[in-house]
Amino acid sequence: MFQGPDTLSRMIVDIPSSADFQAAGINQIYLAWQIAMQALLDLERAIEYGADDDAETKTIYWKRSQPALANAYSLIQQGMELALKGRIAAVSPLLLIGNPGDWPGRAATSEVSFGEFRTLDAADLVKVHDSIAAPRFDENFKVFWEGVRRERNKIMHSATSKTFDPADVVHAILTAVEVLFSEKPWSLWLLEMEKEGRLAALGFNDDVQNDVMWQVEAALKHLSSADGRRYFGFDAKRRAYICPHCYYAANRDWQEDWPHLAQLTTKARGATQLSCTVCKTVTEVLRTPCDESDCKGNVIAEGICLTCSRKSTSTTRMRER
Ligand SMILES: [Zn+2]
Ligand SMILES: [Zn+2]
Repeated sequence: MFQGPDTLSRMIVDIPSSADFQAAGINQIYLAWQIAMQALLDLERAIEYGADDDAETKTIYWKRSQPALANAYSLIQQGMELALKGRIAAVSPLLLIGNPGDWPGRAATSEVSFGEFRTLDAADLVKVHDSIAAPRFDENFKVFWEGVRRERNKIMHSATSKTFDPADVVHAILTAVEVLFSEKPWSLWLLEMEKEGRLAALGFNDDVQNDVMWQVEAALKHLSSADGRRYFGFDAKRRAYICPHCYYAANRDWQEDWPHLAQLTTKARGATQLSCTVCKTVTEVLRTPCDESDCKGNVIAEGICLTCSRKSTSTTRMRER
């Protein structure tokens, strides 16, 4: 008598779910992000501590950062590959084990772990996905994925002629996230993953908000203004303010300069809704001059001036969306 997929799944064991692939994928992307951010942070700190800030020094620095950045780029490919497999697994994980000619011989007679099967080649994943799942990927994504996949192969064969800069890595991460991990904006992924990171296990998670604010600010510096709008909803051409929600969620023991990453939601005079690029909170602000004579700020909330971060006697309540 014919037996359905239930029996099959008992013959092939340890079958990963779509969610398993997705979680593994976002972790690879996050590792790539951490590598790029570390390279940027090391350079910024070194310059703060007096290292040369000239073009030649930076060129040498980025040249020596190539192994790390190439590794980050490979991780983006791996993260994307896992996410694509996750989408196929959502239809059936068994579609991933491809050609029966490649199956382990003993699969027909005993339990075999899914991990022992050869899975589909990365080059076939989009074709398989688009044959079985909707919506299909658009042409832009296909070109992007092919580019990332080919570049990664070159890296693996030590044949890459590309010089990676952190902007490439940041841009590729954001493009991958936009299509494959679009459940939430990247900044919210970052907040979540920093909060659940290994340092948090040791109790060192006071600086999560500070770190993510810094990372988003650093990323924006390396994106065109069009990409800043596309990936973070941040308009570099408009005035920006400190988000009071991020400010109070951050560790304020050591930081003096606060990134200005929140913007008024409309260009109308006297606009009072301030939307944050990082935490996505919308705050109702008061449009009244800062108490400090040397500050021209006129956006106040939660008892601080959102331009200079100094205390203000004007108060508002926070409103979240
Ligand atoms: Zn915020
Ligand atoms: Zn002020």
